[in-house]
Amino acid sequence: MDFRDSPAEAQFRDRLRTWLNEVAGQFPTSGDEYWARQGEWHRALYEAGFFGASWPAEFGGHELPPVYDVIVDEELARAGAPPRPSLGYLIQGLGRHGSRELQQRFLPGMINGTERWCQGFSEPGAGSDLAALTTTATRDGDHYVVHGHKIWTSYSDVADWCLLLARTDPRAPRHKGISAFIVEMKQPGVQQRPLRMISGITTEFGQVSFDGATVPADRMVGQPGEGWKLAMTVVGHEREPSTLGYSARYATTVRLLSERVAGDPPEELAWAAVQSEMLRLHVRRRLSEQLDGVSHGPDGSLDKLLMTWVDQAVGHAALTVAGTDDTHMFGSYLYSRAQSVMGGTSQIQKNIIAGRILGLGA
Ligand SMILES: Cc1cc2nc3c(=O)[nH]c(=O)nc-3n(C[C@H](O)[C@H](O)[C@H](O)COP(=O)(O)OP(=O)(O)OC[C@H]3O[C@@H](n4cnc5c(N)ncnc54)[C@H](O)[C@@H]3O)c2cc1C
Repeated sequence: MDFRDSPAEAQFRDRLRTWLNEVAGQFPTSGDEYWARQGEWHRALYEAGFFGASWPAEFGGHELPPVYDVIVDEELARAGAPPRPSLGYLIQGLGRHGSRELQQRFLPGMINGTERWCQGFSEPGAGSDLAALTTTATRDGDHYVVHGHKIWTSYSDVADWCLLLARTDPRAPRHKGISAFIVEMKQPGVQQRPLRMISGITTEFGQVSFDGATVPADRMVGQPGEGWKLAMTVVGHEREPSTLGYSARYATTVRLLSERVAGDPPEELAWAAVQSEMLRLHVRRRLSEQLDGVSHGPDGSLDKLLMTWVDQAVGHAALTVAGTDDTHMFGSYLYSRAQSVMGGTSQIQKNIIAGRILGLGA
């Protein structure tokens, strides 16, 4: 595949660069300020025509090849702008498992950023072992009533809607008794409490308790007992660096760190440079496969593991070169620690690679 821009791609990139020259500096890129204005940033990107490049036009996307999303990620990183909000995994989940009515009602607002979302999967006793979840949704007429406790729920403080996994049939085998719902967050019976991260950020995620919250039965995504299938679609897409769009940022951080070093770079920085280049090439290969119609199952675990290694290598380089006084660089080191946990831990990715790709074990 030829990775140079086609004339249309070059034109898109130029238009984006011009726009970024005007607006990039107006939006914070880290800390609580970033999270406070993330929705505004999402809408600004969308209104300028740079969000939802590869998503269906019928739901507000531009139906362009996925390479346009990569161009957006590259240019945002180059301009030092905030990242593209990562929603692809939720869009894939609803797009693949939701009814036409649910897609038409919810995908446009999700894509254009007028409605904010969170993902209510993890619980205090169900993270790696997600099928152990105990939140229940019990049918009562044309509604379900929800009781339970979700944790590590990103964006739950600002979310209008939660894509929630709950147990609807306690007697079914544990993977089969789970259903997925679109639950309104701003209703009695839903309480959100923020959690403070190691970096001091308080607005990224929180815990959410459901105590008698209700959800109309027709807001179930898929059929009763099909929540696990949706969960696998969502986490599968959460684990791809090409949809997460982080890879372009690592190279930018490495470049910024290199500019601060006189003489030979420390080993950590050299390693980060090698690793980020490896990920860039890996993402390009994946993109090329995607354009050829190859779809990946458990390979997403490989992508997630590679991305975690790179994120943490770059984090270590930031700590070595910039120390703890540079809040932005130190923040990127601290955040890199979360990468081996969010979206499924590195140990779980290794279990999946061993069992489902290498065919090891029982
Ligand atoms: C920044 C961030 C954002 C997040 N956002 C969300 C969100 O929006 N929505 C959501 O639902 N969740 C979210 N999560 C939660 C995340 O999915 C879980 O933290 C993750 O799946 C791990 O679950 P846990 O924390 O319960 O750890 P546990 O599952 O308790 O794991 C503890 C340790 O045991 C290891 N371990 C567990 N089982 C095995 C095994 N079978 N083999 C080998 N080792 C094992 C793990 O690797 C880990 O090291 C987020 C997490 C982070 C850090």
